[in-house]
Amino acid sequence: MAERLVILGAGESGVGTAILGKKKGFELFVSDFGKIKEAYKQVLIHHEIEWEESGHSEEKVLSANLIMKSPGIPEKAPIIKKLREKGVRIISEIEFASAYTEATIVGITGSNGKTTTATLAYELLKQGGLNVALGGNIGKSFAEQVSEARYQHFVLELSSFQLDGIESFRPHIAVLTNLSPDHLDRYEYKYENYIASKFRIVMNQTKDDYFIYDADDEEIDKWLQKHPIKSQLLPFSVKKELKEGAYIKDNNIILTIQNTNLTMSIATLGLPGQHNLKNAMAASTVATLLKIRKTTIRECLESFPGVEHRLEKVLKINKVLYINDSKATNVNATFYALDSMESPTVWIVGGEDKGNDYTELLPLVNEKVKAIICLGVDNQKIINAFGNVVELMIETESMKDAVQVAYRLADRGDNVLLSPACASFDLFENYEDRGRQFKDAVRNL
Ligand code: ADP
Repeated sequence: MAERLVILGAGESGVGTAILGKKKGFELFVSDFGKIKEAYKQVLIHHEIEWEESGHSEEKVLSANLIMKSPGIPEKAPIIKKLREKGVRIISEIEFASAYTEATIVGITGSNGKTTTATLAYELLKQGGLNVALGGNIGKSFAEQVSEARYQHFVLELSSFQLDGIESFRPHIAVLTNLSPDHLDRYEYKYENYIASKFRIVMNQTKDDYFIYDADDEEIDKWLQKHPIKSQLLPFSVKKELKEGAYIKDNNIILTIQNTNLTMSIATLGLPGQHNLKNAMAASTVATLLKIRKTTIRECLESFPGVEHRLEKVLKINKVLYINDSKATNVNATFYALDSMESPTVWIVGGEDKGNDYTELLPLVNEKVKAIICLGVDNQKIINAFGNVVELMIETESMKDAVQVAYRLADRGDNVLLSPACASFDLFENYEDRGRQFKDAVRNL
């Protein structure tokens, strides 16, 4: 009898897994506790896959031999507890799909910079002529792409939730961009649990694999000292010289990997900010390991336009530059955004607070920010944090108001930066909606 695969959650991961599972001959059932998006329903119907929404039929779910749990479903969900009690095997989409591909896998995780680094690495490999696909948390699911073509390489953006559900998933090249506290509600409010989850990316690696990481990140360093790993370490740093890996010297990126040397001037990089320098170093290390030519790497880094909503330059109006960094949903991301500002900045900040500690932003705000525009339902924490540092603070209730106030406050040569350091759900559907509303408001000035 066919093995019974039950898929919990019918979003991108779930539906992708269903398509691949169908192709591989599983008996399938897809169950979503909430509503399934119409487009996904159509895919399930088209593939003749049985599904349900708005609740789980317990007997149908508990009869599974194998469960694929979508990343959004927490361990504490009652259905997961029951499955655990019964001892049913529960894995993530990444684990499921990786069993059906021979491709070389580049896995990219971290608290910030995953999408940027993964997109850039993908571009480098593609421009370098490799048969490569981009997946994971970006775009089309990994599982669906495994089902449809024989790619030789995958670049995967991996969240800690995807990594929690792996057993034998083994990326040949793993990247850890950095660590800062996030999603702690899913990790018993213990930072070390979240860090351990991120480090699962190396748990099946061998001495023939590679681990690329930020050597300036104290938490990563601490972990590596306590937990030696098998793969070959390739650090990157903006602070110190490294024998093997990537570092900065005299305004150049210097990359030394397995007797290959690459030097490129920072000034020619397409992306702004120190954090992007790190992302560029990580992605170039991946490309060098996969033997992409130096000229291709240089050209690609010069022309890479960045990813939407990440320090995205929108428009210059009256010599004021408007920058959309809506994806900055935590303090660490906003730190790097402010750090990269080279002119006085009118800063639009606020939203749904995730337990933010703003202390680390104070010196930067003091140095760079001339006015703060709060954009959230409850702005008290921001007002308390920065009231003594910035004279001008204004509360607004819509993106249109925020942008119009910014327009009035900014002088020639200034920046207007949307970098909220908060989630968007109090006033917007998601960070993309917030970023688009910002861009629309700017274009309508
Ligand atoms: P992720 O996919 O991990 O959320 P993104 O590339 O989408 O990362 O970037 C998220 C936010 O973090 C953006 O505001 C971006 O400017 C900022 N950011 C990007 N790379 C880094 C980095 N290496 N360190 C800190 N912040 C970063």
